[in-house]
Order: sequence, then structure tokens, then C-alpha cells
Amino acid sequence: MEIIDKMSGMMKQYLQIKMQYEDAVLFYRLGDFYEFFFEDAIQMSKVLDLTLTGKDCGLEERAPMCGIPYHSAEGYINKLINLGYKVAICEQLSNVPEKGKKVVDREVVRIITPGTIVDEGMLEDKKNNYLCCIYQNQDKIGVSYCDISTGEFETCKITGNNVIKDLNDILVRVMPAEVLCNNNFVSENDLPICKLGLVSKFSYFDEKYFEFELINQYLVEQFGSSYSQEFNLKDKECISSSGSLLRYLLETQKRSLKHINSIRICNNKRFMTIDINTRRNLEILETIKDRRKKGSLIGLLDKTKTSMGARMFRSWIEQPLNDVKEINARLDSVEEFYSQIMLRDSINEQLTKFNDIERISGRIAYGTNFTPRDCLALKNSLELLPNIKLLLETTKSTKLKNLYKEVPDFSSVVKLLADAISDNPPALLSNGGYIRDGYNQELDEYHFAMSDGKKWIIELEQSEREKTGIKNLKVAFNKVFGYYIEVNKSLAMNVPLTYQRKQTVANNERYITQELKNLEEKILGAEENAKKLEQRLFAELRNNLIEYIPALQKASKIISELDCLVSLATIAVRNNYSKPKISERLDHLKIIDGRHPVVEDLLKDDRFVSNDTFLNETTDRTMVITGPNMAGKSTYMRQVAVITLMAHIGSFVPAKLAEMPIVDRIFTRVGASDDLAFGQSTFMVEMMEVAEILKNATDASLIVLDEIGRGTSTFDGLSIAWAVVEYLSKKLKAKTLFATHYHELTELENFLEGVKNYKISVKELNGAVVFLRKIVRGGASKSFGIEVASLAGVPDEVIDRAKEISKTLEQSEINKNIVIDTSN
Ligand code: ATP
Repeated sequence: MEIIDKMSGMMKQYLQIKMQYEDAVLFYRLGDFYEFFFEDAIQMSKVLDLTLTGKDCGLEERAPMCGIPYHSAEGYINKLINLGYKVAICEQLSNVPEKGKKVVDREVVRIITPGTIVDEGMLEDKKNNYLCCIYQNQDKIGVSYCDISTGEFETCKITGNNVIKDLNDILVRVMPAEVLCNNNFVSENDLPICKLGLVSKFSYFDEKYFEFELINQYLVEQFGSSYSQEFNLKDKECISSSGSLLRYLLETQKRSLKHINSIRICNNKRFMTIDINTRRNLEILETIKDRRKKGSLIGLLDKTKTSMGARMFRSWIEQPLNDVKEINARLDSVEEFYSQIMLRDSINEQLTKFNDIERISGRIAYGTNFTPRDCLALKNSLELLPNIKLLLETTKSTKLKNLYKEVPDFSSVVKLLADAISDNPPALLSNGGYIRDGYNQELDEYHFAMSDGKKWIIELEQSEREKTGIKNLKVAFNKVFGYYIEVNKSLAMNVPLTYQRKQTVANNERYITQELKNLEEKILGAEENAKKLEQRLFAELRNNLIEYIPALQKASKIISELDCLVSLATIAVRNNYSKPKISERLDHLKIIDGRHPVVEDLLKDDRFVSNDTFLNETTDRTMVITGPNMAGKSTYMRQVAVITLMAHIGSFVPAKLAEMPIVDRIFTRVGASDDLAFGQSTFMVEMMEVAEILKNATDASLIVLDEIGRGTSTFDGLSIAWAVVEYLSKKLKAKTLFATHYHELTELENFLEGVKNYKISVKELNGAVVFLRKIVRGGASKSFGIEVASLAGVPDEVIDRAKEISKTLEQSEINKNIVIDTSN
């Protein structure tokens, strides 16, 4: 006899279910609790800090057990998902066992994984949550990703010599919460994004999981038999990654997902590539120091009013465009909102009232988490669309005119929702009370009985008081006994014989009468029937709404886009930005009076000193920037990169004038970043970053290098820095800003075409440095490191000694002559 045969019925059922979900923590519903047993219980008691108990299971030893109340499950699930667990939710299918069975039927209704979260409380409002699937077939890769909370689904194919680099670029752009891949994919450890620990572990699937016939079947069922033509989805790798992604979603969610209704082929060439270092160095999404949004570029620029707008804004800033037409279309719309205060303010006012209808559409499709309050939020939002359309009617830019034309008409949905849902619906479906009077006749009749019932009870209470002469006699209700008459013990002898005593409590006696019982039946019957009917009506309403999901998704995109454009205009006006000129024909990058948007914002009151920049393909390819510590070199270089990035988003820029061609990539190497956790030294990391740049930059790239070669001996460092500038300028011809404390590099201007020296000017006043923050032509001869050390509070004794040593070293340097062959 196997062990399992000796077990109690419930434990047998538990183990049979658990065996199917071995890789997940099984939340096993038992009444008002989710229980964990055996290994899961031991682990969860530690992870979730629960008291470990035991349960008789038919064996000698009790089964380890611990549990959580079902209504507080969300917080625990959230914690487990963040820790990388999968959670399988197993529910009771009824309250009592079916006839002839000892145990109620149970079933796993959903598996929750980091990439398949739909619950409002677990998702970040302003960020997409992507599940990604990678399918590798020799040197070709299909990548698909989907946000199940919004229904967005994209795929792209990667081929060529740089598949791993290209894949990394996509992953950096998407930042998936979870990644699935086929066993053929062997490069996880080569992906920089994985080395940096920025994506959680990959889940590998056997080739069988990707079997074409089966995968194709999933796609046909979801999108129809002509999906391949409709979405232009022809590549086998993309079909495999998309189909298996869909399969995983359906298998884990165990329901139809109607809001996933199309697959977009993503053209990676549409976007400027921003690698992970650049994203970090430019503090695009968070600050380097404390990883906060406040103080980052997005923290400053994002003035969106809706959550869906904020999500789109984030994707815009993560994915600057490479297409001049698209960029200019955005810029023209921003310009229109920039110059029209009334229009901008009026649209902002409407957007402020707009709810997240994109995620609401997701919940309509999903079902269980769709609530009457969602209906109200949906109605209140859709009601605003005609106002928004009206505001867009007279706009001039092509993009805004198109948006105007595309705003869908939802008047019938608004009417349906207004008729169906009451003004102040409760949060929970189970309590009823959300369907409006007049929507359904049968329901109105129940409601009448319920409200009249209250009157009947009051009347009965009054007449019983009169009959018995007991003034404080009360008719009350509780869940166990239903309605009862309560009389103070001291007056109990006055109650008539028709009163049947039901319960004695501290000071009172409780009774029922036949008349009260009859009333109760009428009232409670009506209440129960009303609840059931409301639930049915709500389910019908949801069904009706399903057909509107594509139109709702379209409206979400329109509102999000408007929100982003108005947001860019708002910040442009507030911070005095100007419209950049961006054109493929331009051969130069020119910025007049440029500012760093975030540093400027932090400094407030006009203290930021603006600076110009000029780079072109011939005479001014490379700026070698010298200047004292603290002068503002890093700020200046980052500002050029940030202005370039903002222009490619379609944003106005912090400058009086900005002109540039399309930049294919921005590279930055800034400061020292230790990677000790990954076994790399500071210098090694620096060199790896430099290598990446030199391998991938083109003549259309913008490169910012801040002090390279500092982590080794002076001569090694100087030699590397020298060779890198030569390579960038002579071979790659990329537009480069190169800051250095190796003043020897200013020599390069004399030998290399395209290299120009710049310095950030300072004044010496009575032995102290005054930072002027202005960039001017020429090379600096001093770093003022000792002066800055003094400013930083290094003791005078050390400063004086450093000055002495510096003098001695300078003397000996003068007598040396470095000669570098620059002929090759
Ligand atoms: P180091 O060589 O020591 O790294 P750096 O030359 O790169 O220094 P930054 O870090 O760019 O100097 O600037 C130092 C500080 O100077 C900044 O934090 C900022 O507060 C201020 N600063 C930089 N540029 C400007 C500017 N243009 N106007 C006003 N303040 C500025």
C-alpha cells in the first residue's frame, strides 16, 4: 500500500493537486483560509513568518501545516512573487461536498508569476509589467513580450552577428518581470542585463513546449486563422515565441483573455538604442545614488495626469525614436500645446478626471477582478471623450488632427453603464447594491420588498410594544438567528405566550413569533434573490462590455498619447525649453545656451550657467574637455547627451537653440562603478564598458566618456585614453565628448583632424578657485585638485604637504619630454 493510500481524503486530494504544480507554492483553500502543507508549509512558515502547526493526515505523523486568511492573501502573494516564487491558487468549487463524496472538489484556478500579475494592488500604476519569451533557433531569435494587464503584445526577430547584443538591447528596453525561453537558448550568462542582475532568473522549457502545430493552434484560437497575414507574422521564430508566450498565459490564467487581440511586429530600428550604462549614467529613470525617481530625468519631465499616460511616457523616455518623421510629428503637437495655454489647460483638466481605462479593459476581459466601481470609473472617463474631441477639433498639427478623428464614440456604452450602475456602488460584488433602480423590473420588486420590509419591521416593533406594554422592546437582527424580539430580563414575565424564547444573553431575553418569522422569510428571501440577480446582471453587463475592448484599448492609446504630449508641453513652458530642429540632412549637432534640465531644476533661481556645443562630422568631431575638479565637466557632457535624448523623444529641450541629425545611439561611460558582486574590479568594469562602446559605436553615435583610464597607473591610463580618442576620432568618426584630467591629451588637437580642446573656465582669487562654469576653447593646465580637496575639508596639514609635493613633481615633469608617435 502506497503512503498516499493511507492518507485522509483531503490530504490525498492535496497531494494529487500539488503534484501537478510542483514548481509553485500551492495556496490550498480550506474555508476562510489558504493552507500550506508539508514542504510548502515548512518553507512558507519561514518566508512568510507563519506559525507552523500540524494536521492529522492519516499517517502516524501529523502533516506540517500553516495558513493565512483568504482575505489577506494579496499581500502574501505579492511578497512571494517579489521573491521569485510562483503561486498556484487552489479554490473550493463548492461549500459542501457533492453527494457521495467526502471532500469538496477543488481546482487550481490560476497561477500567479511575476510576469502574469493582474491584481491592482500588486501592479505599479505607472509601469508596464511584461512577460517575455525568447525562442532561439540556431542564430535566429524570436522575442515576444506581453503585458497581461493591458493586453499589449509585441514580437521581434533578431538575426545577424550581434544577436546577443540586440537581444540585450530589447530586454533593456522592455525590462521584463519574467522571461521564458527554449532549451536551445544558451546565452543567458552572456547577457549584460543578466550579469547586472536586472532580470530575474530565466525559466527554460523543453522544445516540446514550442511544438509548431500546437503553438499555431493556440494562436489560431486566440487571433483567428488568418493571424499570420493580419499581423504580418511570418517568421517561424516569432511565431514560436509568441505562441508559447500565449500558451503560458492561458495555462497559468486558465481563462480566455479577450483583451489580447493583436500582435504588433516591433521594428527595433524605430528606436534609438540606450544601453543599460547610459540609462543609469544619465539617470533617466532613477538616480544612481538612491535609485529614486525624484531627481531623475523622468521624475522631472513626467507631468502626465493619467496612469496609462505615465506608462506610455515611461516607454517614450525608455525608447527614444530614430525616425525623423515620427519625432517631428510629436514635436509639432508639443509645439501646438506649448503655444496654446487655453487648449493645454482644458485638456489637462479633462485628463485629470480620466481613469485607467486600459487596465479596466484588462479586468473586463479577465473577469474575476472587474468591479462595479470599475464600471463607474469607466463611465466617468468615457463621458469625457466628447469634450476632449471638441477641444481637438481646431488643432492644426497632423498628429493631433489624426487623434481627433480617431476618438471613438462611446455614447451607447456610457448610457448602458449609467442605466445599470448606481451612483455610489460598493467595492465588493458579494454585498449587492450596485445595480441602479429601474434597470431591471424583477430586481426592483425585490428591492421594494426589502425596503418595505424595513418598514414592516418598524411597524411590528411598534405594535408589539403597544400589545405588551414593554416600552424598550426591540426587534433586531443577527446572522445566526435572523430577526428576533429582545426584551429586558426584568420584564420577561410580561411577554405573551405566543413568544418563543430563543436565546438568553447578559441582560436580555430573545424571542421569535410566527408573525416575525413570516416577515423574515419575505425580507430575507428578497435580499438573497436580489443579490443573486444583481450578480447575474453584472455578469451580463461584463459580457456586453467585452465586445468594446478593442475600442477601449484604442481610446486608451489616444488618451495616453495626448497625456504625454501635453505633459511635454507643460514642462517645456514651465522650464523654458525650446523646440529642437532634428533632420537627417543636418551634419552637425549644435546647442546654444544648453542647460542640464535636472541640475538646473535642483539649483532653482537661475544659478545654472548655460553653455554651447558644436560637433560635426569633419572639423569638430571630438571635444577633449579639461578643467578643474568640480568645474562642471560631467554636468556639461551629460547635458549634451540628455538634450539629444530629449529631442529624440519628441520633447522640447533646455536650450535657446538645438539642431541635430538623427543619433543612432548614445553611449556614456561615467565615473567608477564597482561590480564587486559580479567579481569585476572597478578598472575591469571601466574597460569592459569602453570595449562595448568601441565595438558598437558608429559615425552616427554620440559618445560621452568621462575620465577613462583613471583606475590604473598614470602612464597606462594616459596611453589607453590617448589611443581611445584616436580610435574614436580617426576610425569611428563618432561625435565624442571626452573629459580628462590628463592634460597631455590636449596635444591631440595638433595632430588629429576633428579634435578640439575645451576647458571649463575658473578664476583664481587670492589662492582660492572660483568656478565660472563656462566652457571655452583651449586646454586647462591645472586640475586644482588640491584646492578642491581643501574645499572638501581635508586638514590644512595634508593640503600644505600636498602643495609641496606637487611643486617638486612639477619641477621634475618640466625636465621630462613625452614624445608620442602620432603618424599612424
Ligand atoms: P570632477 O572632475 O571632480 O568629477 P566635474 O568637473 O565633472 O568634477 P561636475 O560634477 O559636473 O564637475 O559639477 C560639480 C557641481 O557643479 C555640480 O554638482 C553642480 O552643482 C555644479 N555645476 C556644474 N555645472 C554647472 C553649471 N553649468 N551651472 C551651475 N552649476 C553647475
